[in-house]
Amino acid sequence: MDLIFATNNVHKVEEVAKILNHSWLQIRTLKEIGFDQDIEETGDTLRANALIKTKTIYEQMGGNVFSEDTGLEVMALGMAPGVHTARYAGAERSAEANMDKLLNAMANHNDRTARFRTIVCLIWEGEEYFFEGLVNGEIALERSGKQGFGYDPVFIPYGYEESFAQLDSSIKNSISHRYRAMQGLKGFLQKVVESKG
Ligand code: IMP
Repeated sequence: MDLIFATNNVHKVEEVAKILNHSWLQIRTLKEIGFDQDIEETGDTLRANALIKTKTIYEQMGGNVFSEDTGLEVMALGMAPGVHTARYAGAERSAEANMDKLLNAMANHNDRTARFRTIVCLIWEGEEYFFEGLVNGEIALERSGKQGFGYDPVFIPYGYEESFAQLDSSIKNSISHRYRAMQGLKGFLQKVVESKG
């Protein structure tokens, strides 16, 4: 079964390939299908942006396709940066600048509760489906760790003392927002495979 993953983010492709590791499933990246344009994420929700990405690829390239949009929601900041997570500190989408801005914004807050939220949008045989995944945790006082990407060095998931960037990738990939959203997608695809016998 071929499925296009509408993203140019190599870290996301790497994580999702590990999470959706099934012999019957072949994930195709945008690079593999020869799509190299930037898709503007103009929506004001994660769901809207996930739909924009998936629909753009479906309309231009056809096939079965999914994308995901992820936001970091920090309680003390009124759930910001949310849909603005990638460009929190500016259009350059710099992970370092984003983390600096977040740590500064959190300097006077004792409540450091936060969560990552992922919305997956799938277009399967022309129909739209959505799946959601959340991981709760808190914003660390400072960066730690070198693994992962984005805000991983400043996010400590509940139940752990280390950041996503310190934890082994197998742990992140078994508890993360992305993992949980992918379980919905995986369940859907498994049913399709079963129904085809
Ligand atoms: P987008 O979903 O590609 O728009 O990414 C939103 C922002 O969240 C980007 O700044 C990413 O680096 C960040 N992000 C997405 N997923 C993760 C993750 O698993 N860990 C840390 N940061 C992430």
